[in-house]
Amino acid sequence: MDKIKNADKIKIVDTTLRDGEQTAGVVFANKEKLRIAKMLDAIGVDQIEAGIPVMGGHEKETIKAICKLGLKASIMGWNRAVIKDIEHSLECGVDAVAISISTSDIHIEHKLRSTRQKVLESMVKATEFAKKHGVYVSVNAEDASRSDPEFLYEFAQAAKEAGADRLRYCDTVGILDPFTTYERIGELISRVGIDVEMHTHNDFGMATANALAGVHAGAKWVGVTVIGLGERAGNAALEEVVMALKHLKGIDLNFKTEMFRELAEYVSLASKRELPAWKPIVGSNMFAHESGIHADGALKDPRTYEVFRPEEVGLERQIVIGKHSGTSAIKAKFEEYGIVLDQKEAEDLLARVRAAAVELKRPLFDKELVYIYEDYLHEQTKEAAN
Ligand code: MN
Repeated sequence: MDKIKNADKIKIVDTTLRDGEQTAGVVFANKEKLRIAKMLDAIGVDQIEAGIPVMGGHEKETIKAICKLGLKASIMGWNRAVIKDIEHSLECGVDAVAISISTSDIHIEHKLRSTRQKVLESMVKATEFAKKHGVYVSVNAEDASRSDPEFLYEFAQAAKEAGADRLRYCDTVGILDPFTTYERIGELISRVGIDVEMHTHNDFGMATANALAGVHAGAKWVGVTVIGLGERAGNAALEEVVMALKHLKGIDLNFKTEMFRELAEYVSLASKRELPAWKPIVGSNMFAHESGIHADGALKDPRTYEVFRPEEVGLERQIVIGKHSGTSAIKAKFEEYGIVLDQKEAEDLLARVRAAAVELKRPLFDKELVYIYEDYLHEQTKEAAN
């Protein structure tokens, strides 16, 4: 297993309540935000980005309420590089602020209608103001992945000198791949020597891979959302990053991973976003085996087709009986009903099960299996009588 620099210091900042809620069409109720914050804290997240205080109203009140929960996690407010924004954050009682401004020319010219010089000045002023008030500061380089690298180094250096605690490297439009990420983050850290957070988006399906590549290059923080909820194709998923660090990189962050499925279901309900069966780590199909060879292996020893145990993420193993089943799965399934089949019976039933599954174009429910078995017994008695 590859060794990662600073492996013991990797920290997770979850932004389900900020970047996750920014997803088109998603709104959390205030109570839902509080409950999600509590669950994130219980699971072991180091920092919770709770929202955008300058929005005022319910958003600000909820962030205040989250700060009053007395959680172990640090609570961060999101801000533009504007003093007024930071004042709203401070009024909420957060202990950390994210100060965000674009560093790419395309954003500076076409969105901010500003200049590199003004971007630097606003960021430095906002950072110095926040540090004067004693909060932890993450300076967010929005669209960092499309920024001129030389300007990004200058920006990061200025942030560091203004007292920023870390730089959030935002792959805002999700155009990185792991190889590029590794090179760029390595270079950034060696040039500037500032703590880096990976904030990656999943437009090309590489958010988690890019986050890991950043960690490999020395990034100490990873920004995530539950089930990868986020704009467009979403963000790096909390459950994917934590489990990949643990099982692929040997870095155990000691999270209560057994809560992952429950948290995923809750965020899915609250955001009205479906949780697909094939979702990595928490999808209901993660531990479902139908194919004869896989089910046989998983029944003999789950490690043959499973990298970690279902209980580790709050799921259960299921043997699905359908077109691709084999006799050992049929036997195991009927044993659950207290029926011990011999090989001949298992083979006879398998033929009937397969025919039914093809006809219905789906696996079979337990009840259907029982009916097939009863029909089979009925035929056997009739044959014996003849
Ligand atoms: Mn984002």
